[in-house]
Amino acid sequence: MYLKTKYLFGIILVILLVFTGCASRTNTNTNDKLNVVATTTLLADLADVIGGEHVNVNGLMGPGIDPHLYQASAGDVTLMQNADVVVYNGLHLEGKMGEIFESIKVQGSEVICIENGIKEDDLLQDEDDSNVYDPHVWFDVSLWKDAARLFAHDLSKIDQQHASDFNANLEQYLQELDELDQYIKNRTSEVSQEQRVLITAHDAFRYFGKAYGFEVIGLQGTSTDTEAGTSDVSSLAEFITQRKIKAIFVESSVPPKTIEALQAAVKAKGFDVSIGGELYSDSLGGVESDAPTYILTFKSNIDTIVDALK
Ligand SMILES: [Zn+2]
Repeated sequence: MYLKTKYLFGIILVILLVFTGCASRTNTNTNDKLNVVATTTLLADLADVIGGEHVNVNGLMGPGIDPHLYQASAGDVTLMQNADVVVYNGLHLEGKMGEIFESIKVQGSEVICIENGIKEDDLLQDEDDSNVYDPHVWFDVSLWKDAARLFAHDLSKIDQQHASDFNANLEQYLQELDELDQYIKNRTSEVSQEQRVLITAHDAFRYFGKAYGFEVIGLQGTSTDTEAGTSDVSSLAEFITQRKIKAIFVESSVPPKTIEALQAAVKAKGFDVSIGGELYSDSLGGVESDAPTYILTFKSNIDTIVDALK
């Protein structure tokens, strides 16, 4: 119903846009599916899972793309203008996309912001700037459940006809997320308390650390926007040597050079720390990888972490 109504208004819209000079918002759908545009791979996966057969999802950022630094192209903006629904993380994750989402909303796309589904009490403050919150909420499964609930709720309001399907998909997904949560807890128990230290390129894992009992240290801050200083590398190398940490980790969406520099600094102090593998932080793996979904990405991460630290 929703889409058909839109078609009826299509011609009127085009005429209006010719006169107002606005960018044209043509509906490129050739079927009844809602056209959803998601900023990150994580959100594209969520939209796929909840929307199921009723949505056609386009992700703006591919696997391995850093959302903190990502700048929307003209093509991205057109894609969002033409979408029925745009979903983004918020909490300044898409730091360079600024006010785009507000303007997309004004131009008529429905916009879902995941930030709205997370209770303020559950948010962690950014360590470098107490005025902003850490955006990496997905690495606490309970918060990702909140994100899924919000998405299903908002999508159901936009496409009421398929609300019961969205809710059924949500219920199924919440169950799978509970199983994932249990898997993470089981694997974590293989690592001794004093070795539960996760050192990565940037501070993407603080929600993970809080939820699953890891001490988490990122060489760069919560955003990759800031560079790690040489004093940061030096003091962290000292910490690793003192605590005899077995492994540190590179991230798929951040160049490995800072972690390699840290490894070299540890070696200079006479201790060997291994690079425990690559973690997916702000992006899922590609379709060809072992981690094309949120659940498989999290499993891959916890397996990498536990296998290197235990
Ligand atoms: Zn990040």
